[in-house]
Amino acid sequence: MKKLALHWKILLGMLAGVLFALLLTNFDWGAWFIGDWIKPFGTIFISSLKLIAIPLILAALIKGIADLKDISSLSKMGMRTISIYVVTTVIAVSIGLTVVSLIQPGKTINEDTRTELVEAYGGDADAKLQAAAAQKESGPLQALIDLVPSNIVSAASSNRNMLQVIFFAVFFGISLILIPEEKAKTVKEFFDGLNEVILKMVDLIMLAAPYGVFALMAALVVEAPSPDLFAALAMYGVSVVLGLLLMVVFYIVLVKVFTKKSPTFFLQGIAPAQLLAFSTSSSAATLPVTMERVTEHLGVEEEVSSFVLPIGATINMDGTSLYQAVAAVFIAQAFGMDLSFGTQLGIIATATLASIGSAAVPGAGMVMLVGVLGYAGIPEAGLALIFAVDRPLDMCRTVINVTGDATVSMLVAKSQDKLGDPKVKNWDDTYVK
Ligand code: ASP
Repeated sequence: MKKLALHWKILLGMLAGVLFALLLTNFDWGAWFIGDWIKPFGTIFISSLKLIAIPLILAALIKGIADLKDISSLSKMGMRTISIYVVTTVIAVSIGLTVVSLIQPGKTINEDTRTELVEAYGGDADAKLQAAAAQKESGPLQALIDLVPSNIVSAASSNRNMLQVIFFAVFFGISLILIPEEKAKTVKEFFDGLNEVILKMVDLIMLAAPYGVFALMAALVVEAPSPDLFAALAMYGVSVVLGLLLMVVFYIVLVKVFTKKSPTFFLQGIAPAQLLAFSTSSSAATLPVTMERVTEHLGVEEEVSSFVLPIGATINMDGTSLYQAVAAVFIAQAFGMDLSFGTQLGIIATATLASIGSAAVPGAGMVMLVGVLGYAGIPEAGLALIFAVDRPLDMCRTVINVTGDATVSMLVAKSQDKLGDPKVKNWDDTYVK
């Protein structure tokens, strides 16, 4: 029998997880069983992916920069990467604003639903507000201060500090270029080897992916809030998802126009990473797989992917920024507010910054949304309105975040003449050796 491609296996695992959970919810002990005996396997799966994120960034980035051989190509690539990231994010927010203004989902929320949602989720929203308040108590240059770790071991001890680890790796890589070749050789070879080992670890973990996503989806289904609330928020959800789908079209066009690669090639190559982003809601947890897919299956040379992707996972969140724009306007509409053109322009700027500041973990986009609401004078209590459907939308926006990073890595690679043929022709060869 012809072997099933990995993305189909993952998709089947997800579907089976949903069906299994729906079946078990018919029994009193169903939710308990899934919580105690199924969910842990999902948690282990995510942990094993997160486990290799920091070593991967260190090894891949140091090796990637050392391979560049001179600082000017690094700064050229850096400028290009950051500029494309900012442009795609601004486009994402603008698409979000357009969609939400056309559909006007907030107008479908009546007084009763609003009260019901605020009562049901006011408490949960408070936790997000507190997290946001903690972030707010800082000066304008705090982001810059946070970039430079005072201790690399403690920085590397949390996946939330990825930017600090990236800073260290870039600094280390640059210094490696600047020392004499014969001294640098051993260090380079070490990181080169380490990088290979870690990519092999990704392969091995991915063998378990269909089972891991089965457990994750089953747990999500039993923990999901009541379907009635979903229905009340349907138009809002549709607006976010529609915006996100438009982003996919946008990426496909970008890839086609600038790299001449077909949509099938691109989507097949990146699909396992997208499915994982959907199941884990975390770009950080997905990073090792994104890296592997982009390098081995989309033909982006490691020099580029190892630089563009870790940075993208932390600062380029097109899906998140689009969602923040839609959510902010939706809440404003639900509270009967009209937003001026100037305020909407401000939302573009704040949602771009908020998405850059969002950590690559589940629910982070919602915490940073508070900043956008605050800027536009929209009641923060509105967070409670969107709480019920935040997780499914988080899953969808994370897919876009990851797809955006992959797209930009292809564009940067093309512009640097570092986009070749994929190393793996047969889509799943890497995983079954
Ligand atoms: N979960 C998203 C990510 O990891 C961030 C967010 O929008 O909450 O990319």
